Amino acid sequence: MSDFEGLKALVTGGASGIGRATADLLVARGAQVAVLDLDPSSVEKPLLAYRADVTDDTSVREAVAAAAADLGGLDVVVNNAGIGAQGTVEDNTDDEWHRVLDVNLVGMVRVARAALPHLRESAHAAIVNTSSIAATAGLPQRALYSATKGAVYSLTLAMAADHVREGIRVNCVNPGTADTPWIGRLLSKAADPAAERAALEARQPTGRLVSADEVAGAIAYLASPLSGATTGTSLAVDGGMQGLRLRPV
Ligand code: NAD
Repeated sequence: MSDFEGLKALVTGGASGIGRATADLLVARGAQVAVLDLDPSSVEKPLLAYRADVTDDTSVREAVAAAAADLGGLDVVVNNAGIGAQGTVEDNTDDEWHRVLDVNLVGMVRVARAALPHLRESAHAAIVNTSSIAATAGLPQRALYSATKGAVYSLTLAMAADHVREGIRVNCVNPGTADTPWIGRLLSKAADPAAERAALEARQPTGRLVSADEVAGAIAYLASPLSGATTGTSLAVDGGMQGLRLRPV
């Protein structure tokens, strides 16, 4: 795949998990990559690192402008920073709703708004948003998180329509349970983390979790000219969960 040669990409949430795997894959394939993250201290060259909070419009604008200046433009935005939330609608407060929507949904809007003027200058412009199987699966105990990821899917479709004539493609990936530090943090709260992990794996059609690298592969495909005729789609990376009409209860 030399299709990434010369591409300039920005990956949000790129210091950890899916974002980090994506940044590393894009670099390995020849792209120049900037990472935007709350804590980019673990990000090393050749990745460029920018500290920003996607809930803070000023910090997003400054980081996107700096990344575009340092890279000499922007072709690809991977809108991936996100946080989790558990519970039913009776469990989460208004403040929690505003907070998680602000990160998972409005954060992507802020990054896209700052990046679009740069993407318009690119001959291979693509935005890839990280949604989730939660967007469509009807997961129990995930009302708030699911609503944010469903909104990311809707946002993806609307943006694809708005920008198709500008040559900017917009797609999303819908990962299933992916083996990242996020899942590690969740499992560590269980009484028996190893047993909880085994149970989680057993509920997957494949008998294992999705790897961060596998999600990165799907993101890279949607980010590259290899998918040049693809916009307004979601790509499931969930070990077959969605295609087989299963859900990770
Ligand atoms: P992770 O916690 O390993 O990484 C998330 C990264 O986002 C971290 O580096 C964190 O610092 C950064 N981040 C969080 N809030 C931020 C903010 N306000 N501003 C800037 N950066 C911020 O998580 P992950 O599992 O790699 O998840 C990445 C994305 O994938 C998220 O959008 C998540 O919803 C989605 N996703 C994850 C899974 C899964 O099972 N891991 C499944 C479906 C979707």
